[in-house]
Amino acid sequence: MDRGHGLNILVDIGKTHVKNTGKISSVRLIVQKYGGTSVGSVDRIKAVAQKVYASHRSGVKTVVTLSAMGGETNRLIQLASQFHDDPNPRELDALLSTGEQVSISLLCMALQNLGVEARSYTGHQVRISTDSAFGKARIESIDAEHIQEDLDSGLVVVVAGFQGVDERDNITTLGRGGSDTTAVALASVLNADECQIFTDVDGVYTTDPRIVPDARRLSEITFEEMIEMASQGSKVLQIRAVEFAGKYNVPLRVMSSFVDGPGTLITLEDEDYMEKPVVSGIAFNRDEAKLTVRGIPDQPGVAAKVLVPISEANIEIDVIVQNVAKDNSADITFTLNKNDLRRAESILKGIANDLGAKEVSADGKIAKVSIVGVGMRSHAGVAAKMFACLASEGINIQLITTSEIKIAVIIEERYLELAVRALHTEYNLENSTAF
Ligand code: ADP
Ligand code: ASP
Ligand code: MG
Repeated sequence: MDRGHGLNILVDIGKTHVKNTGKISSVRLIVQKYGGTSVGSVDRIKAVAQKVYASHRSGVKTVVTLSAMGGETNRLIQLASQFHDDPNPRELDALLSTGEQVSISLLCMALQNLGVEARSYTGHQVRISTDSAFGKARIESIDAEHIQEDLDSGLVVVVAGFQGVDERDNITTLGRGGSDTTAVALASVLNADECQIFTDVDGVYTTDPRIVPDARRLSEITFEEMIEMASQGSKVLQIRAVEFAGKYNVPLRVMSSFVDGPGTLITLEDEDYMEKPVVSGIAFNRDEAKLTVRGIPDQPGVAAKVLVPISEANIEIDVIVQNVAKDNSADITFTLNKNDLRRAESILKGIANDLGAKEVSADGKIAKVSIVGVGMRSHAGVAAKMFACLASEGINIQLITTSEIKIAVIIEERYLELAVRALHTEYNLENSTAF
């Protein structure tokens, strides 16, 4: 695929993948992104400045994008919540974008102390144009002219992550973890040789190393697997960033801000995926909740009657299961984000009579565990093994959903860590050497 987008790109995130060897022959331009922990204190910002300086000194044009200092975005959300349970989205985005404005200017000061000419830009200043979906805006184009001019004059350019501006000049934000997407979008528009995501772990692991200390760093993972891992809850990369990098063939690497090392390269799937381990990683998500509508007369259109009002309220749903009992009444269960549970519950309780439903019940104490691997395509019995493993730990499976390279189950939240550890051992992920 052509990556020569000129100075503007129109972004249409999809899943078309193109060959990405991940090899850098002669590196000319790098985009580096540092996350919240990496810029969490004055000393850490100084340490980031040293790393950026090293890249710049080696003759590589260096563009940096930053998150807010660790904890700052949460602090701002908390501050807003003291004014309103559901703050005005435009004003919330204006507030949240300030975190990144602080970190970028501080990093530029630290770089200037090292004798490096550096210039910071907010999303507005470099015209990171987005749609107007406050809190989850999508990047539509970036005007990289100033960045390019600065780079040509030997400057380091530091761009605020996570933010953009819509066509009416409103400040927008890209959703939690959105600086990853800023970095990939910049790498794409600047035709960078690599987009390096520096964080507090030294790569992508078989599962979150905070839960399984024996988890193993993967030297490579395919875009497709990384998209599943991210969408199933592995927050090491924002899902849109991975989709974007896959679509625009941006070489993407996750690395540590604190220790040197090769990190994890996100690659295209190679032909020998049959040789890959069946399961490459385990993801989990504690943010989901479950709603069940019981005893609805089973007629054509019942699922729509339940789910249309939910989607009209802009509530996203994930897993859906419908069962029909012998008496021809249907139960519909679906999962959604915990934050939307009470709103969705009250919508359904409001229409329960019209639906002829016997009961609407909510459960906020569930979690989702997913096994992910391209090797699943060529193996039978993967699900059976997963279910047997969970059964042997006494863990009840409430819902199941699958895709070609993923099996996900909903279980009681209190069993989450046990399930992740048991599955990690079951698939021998501590020892697998295929990557
Ligand atoms: P940053 O602030 O740098 O963006 P994040 O907190 O968003 O960092 O992402 C890094 C964290 O992702 C790690 O500290 C780790 O706990 C978590 N994580 C979850 N799943 C994985 C995984 N499979 N591999 C590595 N880290 C993971
Ligand atoms: N500061 C934002 C957040 O905490 C964006 C990011 O860190 O990527 O979600
Ligand atoms: Mg992050």
